[in-house]
Amino acid sequence: MRCYWVVLVLLVLDVVLATSSPTPVNNYQVLAGHQIWRAEGGSEVAAVMGRLEEEGLVDILGHSIASTFRVFPGTKDSVSTSLQREGIKYHVVVPDLGRHLAEEERRVKREILSSQGETCFENDCPKPLTQRYMTYVEIAWYLHELAAKSPRVELKSIGKTFENRDIWLVHIKPTAKEGTKKRDAIWMEGGIHAREWISEAVTLQLLDKLASDDTTLTRNIDIYCVPIANPDGYEYSRNTDRLWRKNRAIDPSMERDCTGVDLNRNWSTGYGVGASTNPCSEVYQGSAPFSELETRALKKEMTRVSSVNNLRLVMAVHSFGQKLYHPWGFTKKEAPNTAEMKKAGLAFAQAAAKGSRGRKGAQYEVTSSSELYLASGATDDWAKATLDVPYAYTLELPDEGLHGFVLPSNFIKPAAQDVWRGMKKLIPMVLNK
Ligand SMILES: [Zn+2]
Repeated sequence: MRCYWVVLVLLVLDVVLATSSPTPVNNYQVLAGHQIWRAEGGSEVAAVMGRLEEEGLVDILGHSIASTFRVFPGTKDSVSTSLQREGIKYHVVVPDLGRHLAEEERRVKREILSSQGETCFENDCPKPLTQRYMTYVEIAWYLHELAAKSPRVELKSIGKTFENRDIWLVHIKPTAKEGTKKRDAIWMEGGIHAREWISEAVTLQLLDKLASDDTTLTRNIDIYCVPIANPDGYEYSRNTDRLWRKNRAIDPSMERDCTGVDLNRNWSTGYGVGASTNPCSEVYQGSAPFSELETRALKKEMTRVSSVNNLRLVMAVHSFGQKLYHPWGFTKKEAPNTAEMKKAGLAFAQAAAKGSRGRKGAQYEVTSSSELYLASGATDDWAKATLDVPYAYTLELPDEGLHGFVLPSNFIKPAAQDVWRGMKKLIPMVLNK
């Protein structure tokens, strides 16, 4: 796990040194006194951790063989007492995140300075980067340039965030001549969780591939994609708190010190299950379903698309864990079309695992969202329940927990290659025959 936090420092510096990043980074100050703990165990431990998270005592970073979570300076005693009472063994992985980052900073600075990277500027970003995570402004520029150079691509803003950033929607039109028939469509969503930077990075690589595809894969379909669904949270994670998850909304009707809503707990399906009513929790569901500008914008546009197209696939891209989840997340019951979702999911996973040029691909597990614990208010559950989308997934990108959310940028390229191979198998399987 040590490597994880070395990488965190690398990324912090990555942000500092990025030519277009105007704000000095002070993550390590914000994270002073925060600790990373790890508790061994399966679903029983996950259930206890879920409760502690709902109470705002911890921030779960990942579940796999063990639960890895952040403990805040004021909650250590309560968390320790709760875990002991439940008989759960745990150990401290990082005793002071802030200090650890500060100590590592100087050591890695030289490495970053000596590395040569791709370039991307705020007014010129011809390709999505593979060597560094892009800023929101760079992403917006890339999307504008993609639309400008490709007649297939349309770009529009589907709404504004709390901090007045545009939520961009890319529409890639089919290459075949338009007919009168309702066309099949796929929808991709990236970056609804702020700290999952690999999500935006991979989604942008996919857009690049899809927009230039001249095969039968995209001949007859409409592709819609919101590559950065939580721009405010993303920028806050880049500039202030690397582990930020929610959006940055402040609800003036609530007297509270805490900011932000977990946008992937704010959709209406199963609302409230496995989420928190505590505004300070990382999984705060918001004051009501669709209380947030981002989820409202996504909902409106997805509903529109499903009325003009046959919306066949919704893929929400997250990290980490290397899983392809299918609904439901809010209940253990089986969702309609589960067997088909599994079949297509396995085809995705097999193709992704093949790797390329001698490199082994990532191994994705295909399973139900509610496998370990219940969680509601997610995009894929809503798409399935409300729009009756036959294939809905939440894709958890690499890795399996070593770096977690703080994935080094040299993972962008292999992760995108694997997902692209998987999507090429998946897309034909989800379309109307
Ligand atoms: Zn996520």
